[in-house]
Amino acid sequence: MCTDLLTRQPTSNDVKRDMKNSSTESLRVAVVGGGIGGLSAAHALRRRGMDVTVYEQAKSLGEVGAGVFIYPNSLRQLERTGLGDAMAEVGARVGSGSQYYRMDGTVVGPILTTDSRGWNGMYGMHRADLLDALARAQPSNAVRTDHRCIGFEQDDTVARLTFANGATAEADVVVAADGIQSVLQKHVVAPQPPEYSGVRAYRGLITREKLPQWRDEAHQVWMGDGKHFMVFPVRSGRLLNYVGFVPTTSETVESWSAKGDRDELAASFDGWDPRVVDLLDKVETCFWWGLYDRRPLQSWTRGRLVLLGDAAHPMLPHLGQGANQAIEDGVALAVLLEGCSPVAVVDVLPRYERLRRARTDVIQAEARQNGLRYDSKYESLEQRDREIANSAAFRKSLYDYDVEQAAIACRDHGEDLPAHAVLSAHAGD
Ligand SMILES: Cc1cc2nc3c(=O)[nH]c(=O)nc-3n(C[C@H](O)[C@H](O)[C@H](O)COP(=O)(O)OP(=O)(O)OC[C@H]3O[C@@H](n4cnc5c(N)ncnc54)[C@H](O)[C@@H]3O)c2cc1C
Repeated sequence: MCTDLLTRQPTSNDVKRDMKNSSTESLRVAVVGGGIGGLSAAHALRRRGMDVTVYEQAKSLGEVGAGVFIYPNSLRQLERTGLGDAMAEVGARVGSGSQYYRMDGTVVGPILTTDSRGWNGMYGMHRADLLDALARAQPSNAVRTDHRCIGFEQDDTVARLTFANGATAEADVVVAADGIQSVLQKHVVAPQPPEYSGVRAYRGLITREKLPQWRDEAHQVWMGDGKHFMVFPVRSGRLLNYVGFVPTTSETVESWSAKGDRDELAASFDGWDPRVVDLLDKVETCFWWGLYDRRPLQSWTRGRLVLLGDAAHPMLPHLGQGANQAIEDGVALAVLLEGCSPVAVVDVLPRYERLRRARTDVIQAEARQNGLRYDSKYESLEQRDREIANSAAFRKSLYDYDVEQAAIACRDHGEDLPAHAVLSAHAGD
């Protein structure tokens, strides 16, 4: 049954049937954090009949310039919830010419850009464009900006939030989508700091016009000694997003908006493939970001409080899945909470955790391993190259997964899919 559900595309009838079964009583959901995870979850929850309010600490919704991949596993969900056109409008299709290279430009192999059916559901997105599309999908009164959550408490009947501006809110469920530095996480598990990977990511955008020879749709990854560099298009192909991953001895601030040193970045890739050197020559400014993750947390839920996205499972970006998994989380939560009474919430949230972590625990670990491959931390590069080739099978199982169907199976038949059912092949196998 699991297999059928994992390979079958849901029809509009499935969705209509699911919607019809929903309770008419609206569950009140407070989402803390208006990032990619929070806004996409709010959209999914609302679509399944819940009364959702998002509380974001910033004065306005927004993201600084950088790219993010949207892969088939989350794009099929976004399309199903009516956001397909918005994605197509601002995304840059990523496909032909996508390759892995050694640092000198020797080709290692192709990068998979489809699911098993050959569906090329893959966009490079400017983060601001993605967030904007998600924000436009929210009703006007459903997002409260300038609301920094500072307190949480709950009892048998309700959860309460307090905010730095003096406001308070009550809800049947609180979704903590407040990122890797989550303030709500400590109400679920004992605090433990994120782990620094020893790598700094320099990233930025460059106009496509500055690189007329560049391959339009290509995701390209150059893998060198302890470092790697990647480029992919965003904003309908008008901009190229680049990221240089460089080891550091000191921890780097974990922020999307810390200014990087472009000379230091260029020097880090001196002598690499001339295409990389040429691109970096044209870079004027860049940002940097220290890469952190966490080992899987002991728990994601307590009573009416549930963690989602980076608050639950921050992962290194070496599979490009952090935002995609956050989007999946929201869909799973929406399916499982649909039609649920306020009393039953506390029984349902642990099922969301079990369903999701079977998948995210594996992806968190595999993202770390993929970073070692990209940084060539292998005694034998031939072995590394073999694993890169094998990683297509892992990526296929990643991209084929349909979280909505998995959550429906879990809800209707009490199935908690084991990890091997959702991720069948590891690159290292
Ligand atoms: C270099 C790099 C490249 C990446 N590339 C990709 C990629 O290609 N594909 C991909 O899927 N993922 C990628 N990721 C990961 C991805 O960016 C994250 O996983 C994703 O943004 C997590 O979304 P989130 O909503 O959970 O958290 P965040 O995006 O961190 O959002 C959290 C939100 O909560 C708000 N907030 C925080 N505290 C409070 C509070 N107390 N009260 C109210 N609001 C609060 C914040 O202001 C923010 O808006 C990459 C990450 C890095 C570092």
